[in-house]
Amino acid sequence: MSDLIQAYSKVAGEEVISHIQQLSLPLKGMKVVHVNSTRIGGGVAEILNKLVPLMNEIGIDTKWEVITGQNEFYQCTKNMHNALQGTKISIPDSLLTIYEKTNARNAERLRNILEEADIVFIHDPQPAPLLKYCPNRKGKWIWRCHIDASHPYVPVWKYLRKFVSAYDASVFSLADFSKPLPHPQYIIPPSIDPLSEKNMELDELDIKSTHDRFSIDPLRPVMLQVSRFDRFKDPLGVIEAYRLVKVFSPNIQLILAGGGATDDPEGEEVLHEVCTSVGDDPDIHLLVLPPDSHRTINALQRLADIVLQKSIKEGFGLTVTEAFWKGKPVIGGDTGGIRLQVINHHTGFRVTTPEGAALRIRYLLHHPEIVREMGRKAKEFVRENFLITQQLRELLTLIFGLTHGAEDRIELR
Ligand code: UDP
Repeated sequence: MSDLIQAYSKVAGEEVISHIQQLSLPLKGMKVVHVNSTRIGGGVAEILNKLVPLMNEIGIDTKWEVITGQNEFYQCTKNMHNALQGTKISIPDSLLTIYEKTNARNAERLRNILEEADIVFIHDPQPAPLLKYCPNRKGKWIWRCHIDASHPYVPVWKYLRKFVSAYDASVFSLADFSKPLPHPQYIIPPSIDPLSEKNMELDELDIKSTHDRFSIDPLRPVMLQVSRFDRFKDPLGVIEAYRLVKVFSPNIQLILAGGGATDDPEGEEVLHEVCTSVGDDPDIHLLVLPPDSHRTINALQRLADIVLQKSIKEGFGLTVTEAFWKGKPVIGGDTGGIRLQVINHHTGFRVTTPEGAALRIRYLLHHPEIVREMGRKAKEFVRENFLITQQLRELLTLIFGLTHGAEDRIELR
């Protein structure tokens, strides 16, 4: 067992590691390629950063490729992302033409590696048309959808479905998100890496220096939301909840920490709306962080008294998983992947309005012993369900199934 795998065994338990080793034996030497549209920012990049080295470590030749495009391409794919999450937004044909041409151009560059691969994972809608431009593909192609596509704007889904239907399988994060498609579908939730800078243990010095660096008062309670500046994450709703809490707990501080993703052109606009709403309130710390701020985010999640993820739509919500791993319950929007993670009164509270969030924040502020107990349960919940080792085991099972003929049904859990 390599040192790295050994290290995971200590955190995730030997059983899952032993399964991974057994599953990897018949797959050794296989060529796998993951394709998405950004190396920086957002949950998919976060997962691939960890998953790809781990797959290589167990003997599967795994590469990560990123497609690139111009502004209009990202404008189109952001609209598509919003439409899949339910926003009624029509995408003009001119943008769809750019979307397809950008994929065709990327396919020119990636064709050899994609057509040679035994398994190709295409993440989210941005690179979905690549398959069409790789007519001599040798391997199985899997479309992995990380977003909440349960109630998409139908015209946009119909357009995208043309590309997705040609895949050999698709993967969704939740059963609720799956769609009528002519191929097997697998439910595999995302996961966190417990050994990464974002999630490893930190010492008191790290926490203290984070307090100092951002002038956060360690003696007063802190609420935190970590998110890209995206309307679906509802940063304005978080500020509203904070203001409601402040009436009764004037000591409260709010940290809104975020950054952009290179494939998200709306971030600037949303950040501007957030700045306007914050005004000159000295107790709101609006932190625009560079993309490699993993240790800082880790420290913020550890120093927070209350963690929020008040999303209106959420594919999974890795920030929830990350906070759980630090023993923090989460007050989260009652939507998508947050429903899978936040169990009322056990690992946190699900809310739909700023008023509901404020009520739960006040409750937790007044019951630190309940916060500790819920936090303990939340961490165990992650250990059992949402560590990267679990996800790796499930992906290996999927690859085994697709390449060894068990295509109809595999129970992954
Ligand atoms: N994240 C980050 N910096 C930021 C904002 C978010 O590193 O400024 C990370 C966050 O810690 C999490 C991921 O990006 O690991 C976001 O994943 P999530 O599933 O919560 O949301 P997404 O951005 O994919 O919609």
